[in-house]
Amino acid sequence: DDDVPWVLGTHLTERCGPLARAPDGNRVLLIEAHGFARRLPYHHHKLTLVFAAMRRFRDRLSDAGYNVIYLKAETFGDALETFFAEHPDATLVTMRSPSYGSERRFRDLVADAGGDLRVCENELFVSTRGAFDEWADGAETFTHEQFYRWMRRESGVLMDGEDPVGGEWNFDDQNREFPPEEWEAPPAPSPEPDVVVEETAAWVESTFDTWGSTEEVRWPVTREGARDHLEHFLEHRLPAFGPYQDAMRTDDWEMAHSLLSAVINIGLLHPLEVIKAVETAYHDRDAVSLPSAEGCIRQLLGWREFVRHVYRQTMPELASANQLEATASLPDFYWTGETGMNCLAETIGDVYDRGYAHHIQRLMVLANFATLWGVEPRELNEWFHATYVDAYHWVTTPNVVEMGQYAHGVFATKPYVSSANYVDRMSDYCADCRYDSDETTGEGACPFNALYWDFLARNEAKLRDNHRMRLMYSHVDAKREAGDLEAIREHVVDLRANVDDV
Ligand code: FAD
Ligand code: SF4
Repeated sequence: DDDVPWVLGTHLTERCGPLARAPDGNRVLLIEAHGFARRLPYHHHKLTLVFAAMRRFRDRLSDAGYNVIYLKAETFGDALETFFAEHPDATLVTMRSPSYGSERRFRDLVADAGGDLRVCENELFVSTRGAFDEWADGAETFTHEQFYRWMRRESGVLMDGEDPVGGEWNFDDQNREFPPEEWEAPPAPSPEPDVVVEETAAWVESTFDTWGSTEEVRWPVTREGARDHLEHFLEHRLPAFGPYQDAMRTDDWEMAHSLLSAVINIGLLHPLEVIKAVETAYHDRDAVSLPSAEGCIRQLLGWREFVRHVYRQTMPELASANQLEATASLPDFYWTGETGMNCLAETIGDVYDRGYAHHIQRLMVLANFATLWGVEPRELNEWFHATYVDAYHWVTTPNVVEMGQYAHGVFATKPYVSSANYVDRMSDYCADCRYDSDETTGEGACPFNALYWDFLARNEAKLRDNHRMRLMYSHVDAKREAGDLEAIREHVVDLRANVDDV
């Protein structure tokens, strides 16, 4: 067959796409391009994960009888030249990458190499581009909750005829608990020793300038490993997923999260397969409550699909959006972890160790602080892109720039910002911190507090009329009347002048 599936490093599956339709013995192309890995100080575990998973997939396809052409090159362009020199008859067929501009780039590179390329729908999502666009009907802003309900109806997941199972679409109000002290987080699956991972990890360490720990790469790199992770989650962790979804505990980096984003984002698990497995677990097991199952399904069927389409609809503007005109640079401690703010130090430590921190650490610690500090969204986006094992431009950009920093307004209706109060309520970080979460100014006051009030005062012209901010601005007014804003502003000036000592 002249059609040769070209499998991208984030599409590692033979269960859908052109590869699923290729006959036995067909040629298959995989390209390990190393140049991109030099563009940012990527986490060591991220590069190891992607390269090791590609190498394992190459071996899997060879064992299954495919004629695998596996090219290592500095750039895609170099590899495509090599490929078409040897296979001038071939037409490459690939699933569209969700990354903005990649289709045009690949078309140009293939044309430069004198070859042909066909790009088809990406089947690694639950919804299609056409379906979303029909649903959106030309709208320019989108509401997640409406999209999610539509996805539930269309897919029939957790539906009872026309109605949601249990009579409610959303159980978020039951998913905001902090666990009692005696609660023990269910175990995370431990990494399986894998010789390809070990070899790849050593090669990555000696070849690239990486960030993050080079020890204990814990992410599965095969289909079987990813399935084991899913089973482990369903069995041990899903029951506690719901209630403690938003909680942060120093000794439990994993809490009861699924830890599946890294493998879903490279194609080792299909999101619909995870969704169905969670739904089945809810129907079959008393231990799995509806708020846990629905909470997890909402992330995958709702948020993951939603951000992918929002990204598509708002790029290229989204990547450089900055409606709050934030221009500060990212404090160095995001890279070094050296800060006395315990919530940030612990969370950055988690990211350094494993390329992972859970959703609330990302949103309410890392992005919250950066938003209050006024960090330019593009720079924070780049930091997330480099440091997380599950980070790709299509998923970080809407999450960081929009959800985290309220830089565009395409779906966020207000900034997700908070003072120390939120971190104190949802974590145990404050007890071990050198700062006092109850103080706003003065020696030892938690920086989140003054920064929070200063952020609101600074952005008053842009945010005050937002009805969802009304309560917050009534507190700003009270502080202004009490004459506190000046001291707050001075405290913030001080923090900025001494950022390396914060
Ligand atoms: P769980 O909490 O167990 O959730 C289950 C699954 O739902 C995840 O595996 C993931 O596939 C999906 N999911 C949940 N929330 C989202 C979301 N908002 N967007 C897309 N998918 C979601 N997710 C990434 O995959 N890559 C990123 O680079 C990324 N960067 C983020 C940056 C910020 C500032 C924020 C606020 C969120 C980011 N997210 C990102 C979304 C979310 O935080 C992660 O998907 C999640 O924490 C991954 O851990 P988990 O697999 O244990 O997820
Ligand atoms: Fe973070 Fe402030 Fe709590 Fe310290 S006191 S852990 S800086 S919120």
